[in-house]
Amino acid sequence: MITRFAPSPTGYLHLGHACSAHEVWRIGREVGAQVLLRIEDVDRERCKPQFEHAIYDDLHWLGFDRPRPVRRQSDHVADYDASLQALAAHGLVYPCSCTRGQIAAHDPVLGWDGYVHPGTCRARAMTDRRPGDAIRLNLASALDVIGTPPAFTETGLLHAGTHQPDPNDLLTQIGDPVLWRKTDDPAYHLACPHDDAAQGITHVTRGADLWRATFLHVVIQAVMGWPTPTYHHHGLVRDESGQRLAKIDRSRALASYRAEGLTPQDIWRLVGVRPTAPFTAS
Ligand code: GLU
Repeated sequence: MITRFAPSPTGYLHLGHACSAHEVWRIGREVGAQVLLRIEDVDRERCKPQFEHAIYDDLHWLGFDRPRPVRRQSDHVADYDASLQALAAHGLVYPCSCTRGQIAAHDPVLGWDGYVHPGTCRARAMTDRRPGDAIRLNLASALDVIGTPPAFTETGLLHAGTHQPDPNDLLTQIGDPVLWRKTDDPAYHLACPHDDAAQGITHVTRGADLWRATFLHVVIQAVMGWPTPTYHHHGLVRDESGQRLAKIDRSRALASYRAEGLTPQDIWRLVGVRPTAPFTAS
């Protein structure tokens, strides 16, 4: 059993991250899984070394330990590229030069996660790839290849049960996702399922904001021949009086509380979590 905490070093960790990390280590312990830390730093524009270092400091301070070395996605770009090439060899991806404005001009459907790409560039071949193009998955073709999307088990309270993505919903609510960004960086929807497979992740615990992404990730897993882990999407954390965490300043850096002299116990009290630390690496 292996699980992971996979923050992106695009800013300092805040109270929401502390709760998320707590859920990852708590469930890891519950199911007897080793907890890995993965730094999701493929977005070269937004990820900064100081944020990565702060992640190590904050997790250490909170008492979350993990095995070394830590996987950093920026060290594995060639692996994501190999996956992209495998998809290209099967004609499942295409270059796309659409700007947000061009997509908006096509009167697109507002799907689960923003506007659904209308598939305008779908007929373009990868041999026609130009600098500045994004690469999209041809979702309809991918669904044709896999037949029925795999079912996945969700253990989070909000959606507990077994879920089988409906191809029609995927096509109308997600559309063709970007797997490689215009900035020539791998996209989250490729790097994340890739690494979950590469690291042998059996349990994924993450925020409910990524619930819909899972419907896409299981399709990508099936196309690539990667296993589908068990998922747990945690919802909004409430404090002891039942107030939503949003009432507290969520965006404040954990490091700033630390600088003010608060202890990890103060942080847990603030967010209404009763920790059973220490969460040491197994
Ligand atoms: N890197 C993502 C984030 O910080 C989390 C991805 C995941 O857990 O799958 O929101």
